[in-house]
Amino acid sequence: MGVANLLSFSIIKDMKNIIEIANPCLHCPNARCKAFCPCGNQIPDILDAVKKNDLDLAAKLLYTTNPFPMLTSLLCDHQRQCRGHCVRGIRGEAVDFPCVEYTLSQRFAFPYKPGEPNDKKVAVVGAGPSGLSAATFLLEQGFSVEVFEKESGLGGAILSGIPNFRFDKSCLKQIEDNLRALGAAFHFETVVDKAMMAKLKGDFDYVLVGVGAEKENRLNVPECSGIYSALSLLADANLKNDSNGLEKKKHVIVMGGGNVAMDISRYCARLGVKTTLIYRRDEASMPAQVHEIQEAKEDGVIFSTLTNVSSYKVNDDQKALEGLRLVRMELGEKDESGRPSFHTIEGSEFDVECDAFIMAIGEKSDVASLVGEDEISDRLLLIGDCSYGAKNIAAAIKSGREAAQKIIEANR
Ligand SMILES: Cc1cc2nc3c(=O)[nH]c(=O)nc-3n(C[C@H](O)[C@H](O)[C@H](O)COP(=O)(O)OP(=O)(O)OC[C@H]3O[C@@H](n4cnc5c(N)ncnc54)[C@H](O)[C@@H]3O)c2cc1C
Repeated sequence: MGVANLLSFSIIKDMKNIIEIANPCLHCPNARCKAFCPCGNQIPDILDAVKKNDLDLAAKLLYTTNPFPMLTSLLCDHQRQCRGHCVRGIRGEAVDFPCVEYTLSQRFAFPYKPGEPNDKKVAVVGAGPSGLSAATFLLEQGFSVEVFEKESGLGGAILSGIPNFRFDKSCLKQIEDNLRALGAAFHFETVVDKAMMAKLKGDFDYVLVGVGAEKENRLNVPECSGIYSALSLLADANLKNDSNGLEKKKHVIVMGGGNVAMDISRYCARLGVKTTLIYRRDEASMPAQVHEIQEAKEDGVIFSTLTNVSSYKVNDDQKALEGLRLVRMELGEKDESGRPSFHTIEGSEFDVECDAFIMAIGEKSDVASLVGEDEISDRLLLIGDCSYGAKNIAAAIKSGREAAQKIIEANR
């Protein structure tokens, strides 16, 4: 059973008594769980309230920083964030804050109420976690908020990137209903371009831009069929139920070691295709969540770590990918990223037949094509992944919240 399954099991089991789960919390003065929570949740205080059976206060504290605990409790990388840094975990069982967070999110509905209307209008571009978080806190303070989103629904990378088998997205509809009830207006299927951005700047007092990091890194690959980028495949699968014919492939090779690489390789494996994941460092260096790595293996994904692409074999007639020449790697000293550097082992090349190669080697923001650096001001703020590069849901929620707080402060 994968760790995610264990988590859901523990959630169901422990719904009965979250006080028992909270009890071992030591309420550390410089709590590492809180320091490593990208959302800045007041974890020790929340657990303390739970311990005292004051669940109303616990929920209030949770929703003070995080409007979407049903997302973060199930999708955060708890091992590298709160739970993995719990002092209790050094000698025994770390406090299961995600379980407490999830339980509170189920027992206490979205508590925000519309604020006394003020005359300020805010446009939010992008309905990912950063934009939705900003919208929540602004609506609560009486700002009028309109959200402009190019897709047909909200959720950002949760909707378009994370596969349906990994996360039940019905809660996104609930989030939409909650935000509409709070007063948000949504303009879906609306791509904001430079011209529209200029209009938004004229029509609204503030514009918050949370367009994510959707520009995929690419290798210098040959022009041929059979070579793909992971995000567009995942978006087609999630938004159009279009597999791009991957199920007809004989052997898919995915390159990468992050969430996106795990999601696309699991998607391919679940289509019944032989899927190999190559990664140039070792498994311990993979940025993906540990449970995702386990679940990818359980889905049948073959892991080939310390492996890189050396060259591509293309069928000259059909211009289709036929195979890859791969090369073995070895690790060296840590590089500036804090992870081990990697080096090619000379003479270790080997050939593999494959008819699909998927790059999942990171994403960056393309916000510069929409907003010039000189345009960023107190009235136009970047939030979430587009402001700092691809991170995670909790960081995006915090970023949206902090931008909203800046605007709220400026209008006190
Ligand atoms: C496949 C995948 C799996 C992931 N798994 C996890 C995970 O398990 N846990 C985790 O914590 N994080 C995960 N992440 C990362 C996480 O989803 C992101 O860090 C987070 O969603 C960023 O939020 P955001 O609001 O900044 O941007 P996004 O969520 O990317 O939202 C940006 C929104 O802006 C919209 N948009 C873009 N351009 C325009 C435009 N011109 N006009 C209008 N709308 C526009 C997009 O359609 C999108 O809805 C994953 C990411 C991916 C891609």
